Formats: sequence, structure tokens, C-alpha cells
Amino acid sequence: MAILIRNLFVFFLFSILVGGGYGLWMLEHKLRMVTYSEFRHCLTNHHPVSITFIGNKVIAEHKAGDKYQTSVPSPEKLISELQEKNIQIIFKKDRSEQILQGIVLAYLVLLLLTIIVSLSKKKKQEEEESRFASDKLILPGSGEKQITFDNVAGIPEALEEVQEIVDFLKNPDQFSQIGAVSPKGILLQGPPGTGKTLLAKAIAGEAEVPFYSFSGSDFVEMFVGVGASRVRDIFKEAKTNAPCIIFIDEIDAVGGSRVSGGAAGGQDERSQTLNALLVEMDGFATTDTIVVLAATNRPDILDLALSRPGRFDRQVNILPPDLKGRVKILQVHGAKVALEPKLDLKQIALMVPGFSGAEIANLVNEAALMAARAGKKSVELVHFELARDRILMGVERKGMLLSENDRLVLAFHEAGHAIIARSLPDADPVHKVTIIPRGMALGQTQQLSINDRSSYCYGYLKSRITTLMGGRAAEFIAFEQRTTGAQGDIVQATEIATNMVCKWGMSDMVGPQAMVIDSGGFLGGGGQRVEMSHSTAEAIDKEIKRLLTECNDEAVTILKEKFFLLKQLANILLEVETLDQEDFEIIMTCHFTEMIAAGIQETHECTTCPAADSCVHSKAKKSGGKANAIL
Ligand code: ADP
Ligand code: ZN
Repeated sequence: MAILIRNLFVFFLFSILVGGGYGLWMLEHKLRMVTYSEFRHCLTNHHPVSITFIGNKVIAEHKAGDKYQTSVPSPEKLISELQEKNIQIIFKKDRSEQILQGIVLAYLVLLLLTIIVSLSKKKKQEEEESRFASDKLILPGSGEKQITFDNVAGIPEALEEVQEIVDFLKNPDQFSQIGAVSPKGILLQGPPGTGKTLLAKAIAGEAEVPFYSFSGSDFVEMFVGVGASRVRDIFKEAKTNAPCIIFIDEIDAVGGSRVSGGAAGGQDERSQTLNALLVEMDGFATTDTIVVLAATNRPDILDLALSRPGRFDRQVNILPPDLKGRVKILQVHGAKVALEPKLDLKQIALMVPGFSGAEIANLVNEAALMAARAGKKSVELVHFELARDRILMGVERKGMLLSENDRLVLAFHEAGHAIIARSLPDADPVHKVTIIPRGMALGQTQQLSINDRSSYCYGYLKSRITTLMGGRAAEFIAFEQRTTGAQGDIVQATEIATNMVCKWGMSDMVGPQAMVIDSGGFLGGGGQRVEMSHSTAEAIDKEIKRLLTECNDEAVTILKEKFFLLKQLANILLEVETLDQEDFEIIMTCHFTEMIAAGIQETHECTTCPAADSCVHSKAKKSGGKANAIL
């Protein structure tokens, strides 16, 4: 309707302009009007050249070009008089009425056209809008394979919570008979890639109801009001298809707090859209059997109005999967590729702590690609390892050439990390040591936690800091110098120490008091310190420094004690570049190392070594012991 009114308005404005212009033009070109007596006077005294009759009007023209007009009472009498005077007589039809008629007709046609164009435009837009809703509709059993709860692994609690929704959508009558009211809106919240969208689809699949899928950004348009009208259209259409599910991904795009954040320009539009959504959710009756699911990874910024009763009054938290969950997700996605039959999925799940469902799906795919590239018929453990390294650390930078000296320092640095990790009882086992540059890092010592830890004790955290200090400690012991290579280690160690003192109450001097405002992140992300007295700040700094120094000193002590082993390991790393967990264990447990260190034995021959064939020690011998030579 608005379009029609606007177009009519434009039309009338146009008409006034054209009409006014025509009127002005007429004024300019209008002939002088004279009285009949004046006309008579001129006729007798000045003798016009011609007289033109147009109906009751006559126009007299003189030789000089002077023209004027008048109305005559009886044209016939005048005609005979003119004939006597021998003045030229011209007859013209009176066209003014015709012209007027023409103008009116043209106006009518134009008006009609305007109305037709407006209406068709409106209809087209309406069609587009309604298609906007139906475009995003997935009907049960249509198109792609139905997604059910079988496709969702590792989040059993969430599945349990939404089971009720499935029951409600399947048997709404059963609920209404008892008088039970099912929630209208459910907010799925959790980090990206944890399966929120997947879960929403699975609910629709289980209940076998139509599924409308939108993203919050679909409603944030250039024009104010479009988002809100889309929301209304969606609900209107959904009602005709009930029971059904409306899913809005990234609801924070429209449902972000109206008080804070957001660009000034989009604010109006967003709050209009949000209002429309709230009105619709308040408006539909429980008998409509529509369930609105929304997903977000920023529940903290959502407008509080969204979580009022009768709206998104139920929240389902979806967390990254634990070890068991990762195994389950690996099973789901592993079923899509040809896995080697003996493959132990738990071992793979152990390699990827903290991976989300989406990352695991990606891991399986990358591993399958690696296997295919290697010409294998099935995906093996090594492919998963390669895929994981690639995802975590980027592509190996084999082409990156380090100078001989840099490689040597790097080898000691990584060997330092590894030996410390191996020496501390609380630390996670070493999974891999490498001096091949990858992504941003030069070398790497990876540790894997055996169990997923959700709580970390003092001893573990300290051993982690000590391990981080191991790199620079090794460099210092071997070369009595410090390099920039320890930058990342120091940053991480400082963050852990800060959190220990300021967040986790692990310093007796500071006490069990929160000293930083959490900025998210676990071991990383220090956050901002709260307001505190000067002396408290000083105490905190002292405690952080104490922790770091203690750990550094411990690393130095251990490495000094195991210097021979450090040299051995560095030598081996220079030779083979990468050591996996098994090789590393053999080196660390080899009794020859101690004998050589004690001078009992000079060279290393792996004849009695329990793992004679696979022992890497012999390789170190082959390399001539570069580290030995330099030191
Ligand atoms: P989110 O919406 O939480 O960002 P998605 O649902 O879009 O995450 O997940 C992306 C993909 O990751 C899914 O299509 C699926 O292949 C995989 N995925 C994520 N979580 C799981 C899970 N719990 N079980 C199985 N697959 C999962
Ligand atoms: Zn390091």
C-alpha cells in the first residue's frame, strides 16, 4: 500500500508541475482581450486585415501584426458587415474543449498506469518476500539425506534436553491434553563448530517436520523495516506449515543487546527486527506448534528481552566434546571414509584435545585426502597424524632454510623442552619433537594430555611453566646466550603464572581473591586487573616473578644435570629432524646414554638395546655428532 500512495504522490506532484508550466506558457501566449465596443471602434477606424471566427470568439489581426480577441453576440451579423468592408474572413473550429478533453484523458491513462505499475511492483516484492521464507524451507524427507540424532555425536546431554521438543512436535495433542506447555523458543549456545546447526536439523529430522533455516544476517538489510517484515512473513508462512521449526543461526546479529554495541546505522534496523521477532514469539499460541530454535556463540551479548518467559526461555549448552565424545564423532565421520580396519579411534581422539565436532569432521576429511594422495586404499593412523599437524600448525615449510647455527640452537631449544617435560612427573607425555619449521613456529615439542583435564592442579601448571622455560634454559646452558626464539614460550609462561596468582588463588601471599576481570580463554588471555591498592599490585608482580624464576631455575638445574642427554637429543634431532613418541622414549630410556656420560663406554652400539633395530642412537653416531663437535 505504501508504494501505491508514494507513486500517486509522485504522480500528482508531476501533474502540478506540468499543469503549472502549461498555465504559465498560456499566460505568455494569450491574446489580448478587448471589449466588444473597443472591437467595433477598431473595426471602423483601423480596418483589420483578417478576422478569424472560433465559435463565439473572433480574433482580429492588423497589418502591423497587432492581434486581439473578443466575444461577439451574433457572429452572422458581423460576417455580413465584414463582407461589405471586404475584410478577409477565416473560420476555425473551436478546439479548446477538445484539448481539454484530451488532457483529461491523458491524465486518466497516466493515473491508471501508475496504479498498475505500483500494484505489480508490490506484488513482485511480496512474492519475493514470501519466496524468502519458502526458499529457506526444508521439507521432511526432501532433498539431501535426512539428518537425525544418529548424526549428532558426543553431546548426549544436549540430545536429552531437546528430546522433549521432538516429542512435542510429534504429538502436540498429548501435551495439550495434560495442559503442559512446551517451550516456544530454545537457545542453543556454544563455541563455533560444536554442532548447533546440526542439532537443530536433527530435531527437525527426528520429528519429521518442516524446517525453516535462517541466519541472523538475513534480517540485517540496508533498508529499515525489511528485516522486521521478513520476520512477520516467516511466521505467517510457518503457521500454515505447522507443526514446524524455525531456526535462526547467529541470532546475535539481530538479538545483540540494544543498549550496547552495534554500529549506529544498523541499530535502528536491528532493534526493529528484534522487536518484530519478540512480538511474533509472544503472539503465537501454544496450539500453533511452532518451535523457534536459535543458535549463538555469544550468549553474553544477547538482549535480555530474548530470554524472558515465553520466548527463548530454555537454553541448551553445547560444549566441545570430551575424549569419549571425540571418539563418537570420529565414528560418525569415519563411517563416511574407508578406514583401515584395525585403526584405533581412541588413539586419534587423544591426539586432538579441544577439537570441536566441525574440526574433527575436517580432520577426517584431510586424513582421507592424505591417504588418497599417497595412493592408499584406506586411511591409516599416519594420515590422521599428518592431517592433524597440518590443521594445527600449517603446512611444513620444508623450503625454509635455516643457517647451520640456527638449526643447532633450535635443536637444543626443542631438546630442552622435551627433556624437561619427560623429567617432571606432573607434565603431559611428549608426543612429538621436531625442528622442521611449520606455519609460524620454527620447531615444536608437542605434549598430549592422557585424560581431558577440566581442572588443573598447582603442580601441573608449574611443570608446564618449567617445560616452557626448558627451551631457553637449554640455549643458555649450551651457548650461554639468549635468542628471540623463546618469545612465545615466555608469553605463555607469563600468562599461566599470572592466572595462577590473579585468578586461581594459588599464591599464599596474594590470597584467594580474583584480581583480573576474566576475558575468556583458559590458560591464555590474562584479562584486565581489577582496581587494587599499590601494595597489592606490587605483591602480585612479585609473586608472578617468583613463580617464573623458580620454574626457570628448576629447568636450568634439570638440564645441567642431564646435559649429556641434552647434547645427544639435540644431535639426533639435527640428524632426523622429527622424533615421535616411541623414538623419543627409546632415547630417553637407553642405558647406554648414562654409560657414555659416565665415561664407561665411548661409542654407542645398540647390540644389547631392547629396541636395537629401531634405536635412533646409531643415527646420531653417523651424523658425527655436530653438537658434540661444536661444544
Ligand atoms: P555450529 O552450528 O555449532 O557452528 P555446525 O553444526 O555447523 O556447528 O557443525 C559443522 C559440521 O561439523 C557439521 O555439519 C558436522 O559435520 C560437524 N559436527 C559438528 N558437531 C558435531 C557433532 N557433535 N557430531 C557430529 N558431527 C558434528
Ligand atoms: Zn620453545
